[in-house]
Amino acid sequence: MKKELIFLGPPACGKGTQTSKLSEYLNFPHIDTGSLLRAEIKNGTENGKIAKGFIDKGELVPVELVAKIIEDRLSQNDCKNGYILDGYPRSVEQADKLTVMNKNIDGSEKAEFRAIYFEIDTNILVERIVNRRSCPKCGEIYNLAFKAPKKDGICDKCGTELTQRKDDTREVAQSRFDTYNNETAPLIEYYKNKGVLKSIDANGSIDEVWERLLKAVND
Ligand code: AMP
Repeated sequence: MKKELIFLGPPACGKGTQTSKLSEYLNFPHIDTGSLLRAEIKNGTENGKIAKGFIDKGELVPVELVAKIIEDRLSQNDCKNGYILDGYPRSVEQADKLTVMNKNIDGSEKAEFRAIYFEIDTNILVERIVNRRSCPKCGEIYNLAFKAPKKDGICDKCGTELTQRKDDTREVAQSRFDTYNNETAPLIEYYKNKGVLKSIDANGSIDEVWERLLKAVND
């Protein structure tokens, strides 16, 4: 049966690292809204121009703009057996929209829907954000505090110079946490009430969290 997996958790909770690993493991596409929006900005599209103003302030991009991008992506053939959605939905309004999208796309086909919540001690997360670096070419994520590249500023995987996201500053990070608490955190109750929420302890090493994630997915 098709598996529809969505992921909840505060900024920098480790979702990106774990969901990319999971995408390879399950052979489902990893659909990361933040990266899709950053690609729109890089390509200079109209959507990108609109999105940039919101991303730079740590606010949510308008609901219709993101919905269009996600629906187009979920309708593609590689999502037929399942998908990993990272960063969507981020509000109750988006969650309602996702239910409708899934119905439209799946038709009479049955699918298993699961929301996986990364539960974590939020005190450590701002430090994690300001130390985060990523590879603009292959997307590998590093952290200067606990997963530094072997050679300073250079991607271990492809040798490209690492960059820091523009919204990974202390100031914008604070605003992203406020947005998360106000708009996204209510989804935990929302999915709990629907009986599809799985929580995992996201404190600990990448390997420890990976083991817990596999259990939650295979359970
Ligand atoms: P992320 O890479 O997931 O941390 O997302 C970076 C930024 O992209 C967020 O702070 C928002 O401005 C925007 N964004 C990502 N996903 C969404 C979404 N589902 N709805 C609205 N804005 C989003």
